[in-house]
Amino acid sequence: MVPISPSLRLSAALRAAVAVLHEVATPTPECCNLLARAFPADVSERDTKTWNFENNNFWSATEIRNPTCVFLPDSTEKVAEAVTLFVQHKWRFAVKGGGHSAIPQAANIDGGVLMPMHRLNSTAIDFERGALRVGTGVLMGDIYAALDPHNLTAMIGRYEKVGMGLAMGAGFSYLVNREGLAIDNILDYEVVLADGSVVNANAGSNSDLFRALKGGNNNFGVVTHVTLATVQTEGAIYGGVVYYPESSLPHVTDQIYDHHTRQAIVDTSTHVLPQYGYNGTTNETISFCPIIYNRAVDELPEVLRGWIGTSYTKSSLKKRQYHDLSVELNAGFPDGLVQEQRVFSAYADANLYRDVWAAYHQWLQKYQHIPGLYGLHVNMPITPHVIVRGSANGGNSLGLQSAGNRTLGALYFGITLDNMSDAPEVLPAHGEFVRSMENLAKSRGLWHPYIMLTYSGYDQPAIASYGPENVAFLRKAQEKYNPDHVFQRLVPGGQKPPSLH
Ligand SMILES: Cc1cc2nc3c(=O)[nH]c(=O)nc-3n(C[C@H](O)[C@H](O)[C@H](O)COP(=O)(O)OP(=O)(O)OC[C@H]3O[C@@H](n4cnc5c(N)ncnc54)[C@H](O)[C@@H]3O)c2cc1C
Repeated sequence: MVPISPSLRLSAALRAAVAVLHEVATPTPECCNLLARAFPADVSERDTKTWNFENNNFWSATEIRNPTCVFLPDSTEKVAEAVTLFVQHKWRFAVKGGGHSAIPQAANIDGGVLMPMHRLNSTAIDFERGALRVGTGVLMGDIYAALDPHNLTAMIGRYEKVGMGLAMGAGFSYLVNREGLAIDNILDYEVVLADGSVVNANAGSNSDLFRALKGGNNNFGVVTHVTLATVQTEGAIYGGVVYYPESSLPHVTDQIYDHHTRQAIVDTSTHVLPQYGYNGTTNETISFCPIIYNRAVDELPEVLRGWIGTSYTKSSLKKRQYHDLSVELNAGFPDGLVQEQRVFSAYADANLYRDVWAAYHQWLQKYQHIPGLYGLHVNMPITPHVIVRGSANGGNSLGLQSAGNRTLGALYFGITLDNMSDAPEVLPAHGEFVRSMENLAKSRGLWHPYIMLTYSGYDQPAIASYGPENVAFLRKAQEKYNPDHVFQRLVPGGQKPPSLH
């Protein structure tokens, strides 16, 4: 839709009506031509090679949509100019990092401009400050590749192909037990605001925006660069994936609880990412657990030995660096299948953990007939120390302090299907199932309201779960930095603050 020129002779009433109609305009090919005139080398129309690649290059098939065109900026300045144009013409757009959200339209759009960030892919180490400045188009693997040779690392996602959307959400890293969440180890965000201005948000400058972005997703601006704190490594770590047969699952469940309430606390260099996988095609369940000790040792320390004290089928545990590990982990999570993720939080409890998996296993078996059905259950600890690190590093928007001094488990439920046509049968029931598990946790006094945005389902109120005080804080930040709600009206995808849709 071409914007209405003020020179058109319309009656005031008609102009007002048209203004409402065009409150949010869907860019037509003509609009994309206008964009291409401003950025001749950076715009690709529908059905071109670049458009096809960008529109399909997502982890989940739920994200393959129908954008009007693709805009690929390679500088902050271009992002700023483009945002100005989008706002001026009220064009809708989507911001794409690594494309790993499964929420439909979180990072893509039907009728609008898709803006992948991957040309902003710089990595610059500041050795003196102990920091890494990256463009928000980098993937986790790029970060480890930049830092490993210098015996440095950053507290960021663990899988090679995941992108920087995580840095505005929450973020489990290999070092989360020691250093806290990824968002709590960010030193600076460079952001393009709705008025096209470029600002830095950090502890000393725009500190309210800094806090708002730590959990605020794409609701405040387009983040173009992020500066991450780095820490020294010992040159290598010890880690890999251990695979367990179904017969070992009771032992794995015991280890998960022990990890949440003891291992991750007494030795914060530990990291375990326990996963149960149910394969509908074979009706088999296995467990595969990345187990990491973040020090240059030659074997697992005593505190983690329980993980190899039961029979397992294979293990890739070895001395290595983070990049190598991030590549191995990612290999099990190919792109392009139909995915849905959901999550909720509960206080660590051995019986709850056991019962939730048993119920999920039973539920998954009902859908065994669905082609490609795979169910994944992961249970990740947020220890009291992780929450303390968040407060010590300036605070975030997540509202985790209410957990007090008990470990929370982030209980993740992921469904994979081959075909979108099966989604209506499975996905609503999946939502229902996860709600029933939340009710189970509630009935035992173990439920915590926090919904981790980065693993949330499309209808899970992740931002509202931060609690009324944080939501009020975010609203205030909205009024200051995004007063016209541009990043809700024109960027409709992804988690939004309540009542700002
Ligand atoms: C295989 C796999 C492994 C994972 N591993 C981890 C892990 O180890 N730790 C962890 O914490 N999480 C992990 N996650 C979850 C991950 O954090 C989220 O999926 C996250 O949203 C991915 O970010 P992205 O940039 O890849 O995704 P995208 O889908 O591109 O973006 C997610 C959201 O962030 C917004 N966004 C992206 N870039 C910007 C920007 N520059 N400015 C403003 N908004 C932006 C998008 O608009 C979108 O709403 C994993 C997920 C998968 C599927």
